[in-house]
Amino acid sequence: MNPRVRFAPSPTGLLHIGGVRTALFNWLFARHEGGEFLLRIENTDTSREVEESVDQIQRSLRWLGLDWDGEVEFQLDGLERHREAAQKLLAEGHAYEDEGAIRFRMPDEGATVWEDAIKGTISYPNEKLEDLVLLRSDGRPTYNLAAAVDDADSRITHVIRGEDHVPNTPKQIHILEALGRELPVYAHVPNVFGTDGRKLSKRHGAVSVEEFRAEGYVAPALMNYLALLGWSYDDRTTVMSRDELVERFGLERVGSSPATFDYEKLMWLNGVHLRELPAEVYAETLVAYLAEAGFDGDEETIRASAPLVQTKIATLAEYPSFAGFLFRRVAPPHELLDGAGDLLARAREALAGVEPFTAAVIEEALRALAEELELKPRQAFGPIRAAVTGSRISPGLFESLELLGREESLARLDAAIAVAA
Ligand code: GLU
Repeated sequence: MNPRVRFAPSPTGLLHIGGVRTALFNWLFARHEGGEFLLRIENTDTSREVEESVDQIQRSLRWLGLDWDGEVEFQLDGLERHREAAQKLLAEGHAYEDEGAIRFRMPDEGATVWEDAIKGTISYPNEKLEDLVLLRSDGRPTYNLAAAVDDADSRITHVIRGEDHVPNTPKQIHILEALGRELPVYAHVPNVFGTDGRKLSKRHGAVSVEEFRAEGYVAPALMNYLALLGWSYDDRTTVMSRDELVERFGLERVGSSPATFDYEKLMWLNGVHLRELPAEVYAETLVAYLAEAGFDGDEETIRASAPLVQTKIATLAEYPSFAGFLFRRVAPPHELLDGAGDLLARAREALAGVEPFTAAVIEEALRALAEELELKPRQAFGPIRAAVTGSRISPGLFESLELLGREESLARLDAAIAVAA
């Protein structure tokens, strides 16, 4: 039988990146096995208006490329089924009434044991299980009843969820057994911590898909990184495409110790994935990102500069500071021009005569100039770079000059010459 899994977030706020990682493991498992991945919004327990959260959950999953099968399910729609289950348990003596609520009769002795697909055998002492409320006196079902009944009704074969749910599993097992329903396989994925060993939170950096997106991360890189939070293919392979992840993922290689979220590694991976994009896709991605970020620059120049930045920036958010000089003049710090007046004047002269004004011809002219002045290329090009880009670090100098065009390049050199002395 093909497996069916579900991601079951509660719409109580921003979907946290740890939850997204749980969704990803479910999705990868389903796609690898040729099974189904369902999305169930667990809105039973929530009293507040949660529409924004429901939207954000779906947006996050879609952007990452985690497509779910069928319609989104809302737990509240199963209210009648949940109530019936509680009544059945009551009628059959597995539950009792208590001040208008229905409580499940948990065993007091022994242990509840299950074979966790990630953590191995888990034995949970029954004395720790209170007689939990199934149905509140106002008729609302509780999470443990609703989740267990929904998993059974949706024929979920594998419940893959965060390890903070381990204490719920014995409760759900008892409920399902008392209902005479089949048990799914349980798999509890390890927590995600910051490098300081604390639960990942805003203090550490971005924690929602939207934030990562705004910070210039791309979906394949974030997916790749999240997959490695607790799972590994072997001990060496880090960079993997979506297809490779699907092909290779399995619960056997999910570890049971907490995973550490390493923002630097994510950034590095993002750079790797950005560099691997075909040039047109990169340009497209960059244009779309900058438009969304409200960057003020013409699309043509952005596209033309895309190949110059693709190998150099690790996140799309670096573009404005790295290539912003293409759209507006940036005054260079004084010390980068100090004593370079003559050099800049000679460069201006050389560039005025370059024909055509293309990177290759520009390069030839400036290298000849450096030789003539007996300067190492680095010494000669540093001040020129500073004069036109305003910085010590920039995309390729010759390509940048070509993009700026002769007129603008000369104007910037003039301005620099005036302050350089
Ligand atoms: N709604 C629960 C949560 O957001 C998940 C329940 C489950 O996966 O069983 O933590």
